[in-house]
Amino acid sequence: MSKWVWLNGQLVEREKAAISVFDHGILYGDGVFEGIRFYDRKVFKLDEHINRLFNSAKIIMLDIPYSKDEIKKAILLCCRESGLSDGYIRPVVTRGAGALGLAPWRCSNPSMFIIVDTLQLYPKEFYDNGMPIVTVATRRNIPEALNPMIKSLNYLNNIMAKIEAKNAGAEEAIMLNNDGYVAECTGDNIFIIRNNFIYTPPVSAGSLPGITMGAVVQLAADMGVKTVEKLFTRAEMYISDECFLTGTAAEVVPVIQIDGRVIGDGKPGVLTRKLVAAFHDYARKSGAPIE
Ligand code: PMP
Repeated sequence: MSKWVWLNGQLVEREKAAISVFDHGILYGDGVFEGIRFYDRKVFKLDEHINRLFNSAKIIMLDIPYSKDEIKKAILLCCRESGLSDGYIRPVVTRGAGALGLAPWRCSNPSMFIIVDTLQLYPKEFYDNGMPIVTVATRRNIPEALNPMIKSLNYLNNIMAKIEAKNAGAEEAIMLNNDGYVAECTGDNIFIIRNNFIYTPPVSAGSLPGITMGAVVQLAADMGVKTVEKLFTRAEMYISDECFLTGTAAEVVPVIQIDGRVIGDGKPGVLTRKLVAAFHDYARKSGAPIE
């Protein structure tokens, strides 16, 4: 755990880092964020995450009051000051404090903070033996209402799905879009493998363009395996040879059961295991050095 939080341009002690109760990030979930990892003192895919943060902000017409370079420097500083060699970075930009009422133009100064901490999303057992997951009733937000490609502070849609998964005894939920096609999980992208092809839903199905996803697609291509973006249903998942999830916090997690149906032979598949290992190595080799 880092002692420091970067808040509006300054390092502040963790316990003293506070933002206004009038901040529209709190009142209305009006803001955007990123989740980034650093491994062996190197920040993984820093440029990609900063670009996505700025894209999310652009879509919601939020002007981030720092340049990309300034934010990158602040992130590297936070990592150094944390004293950690591996960790999780959470930059958040909110609309800032304003009057009650939705109007974002009544918030004059966006707030930004960066937290560095340690994190383990799933128990190690899932990486070794695979994870059982379930489809839930809560549908992923329709892109015409709140586009899932925006990484916004409105995660209630995903939280509702996560609660449903927990109630059903699973750690992660598969969310369908309003047409009944698989979209993504609450904090991860989803992939199935059939006949040595990898399939994942297109972002237009209602998912976040995952940065881990991009890395895994490239690693699979390096192994000679093609990833196809395609809509698929629950039934197609049930009869897949392998299934796995990707995300910054989760990395690559094998899935061995979906809605009670055993996937493959009930153990992490051969290609999935190769991708778990390849991603683990790649993530520790590449990245922006924190000093
Ligand atoms: N989907 C959702 C809803 C997410 O919140 C995330 C990030 N946690 C992902 C997918 C995976 O994206 P990334 O690989 O960029 O972390």
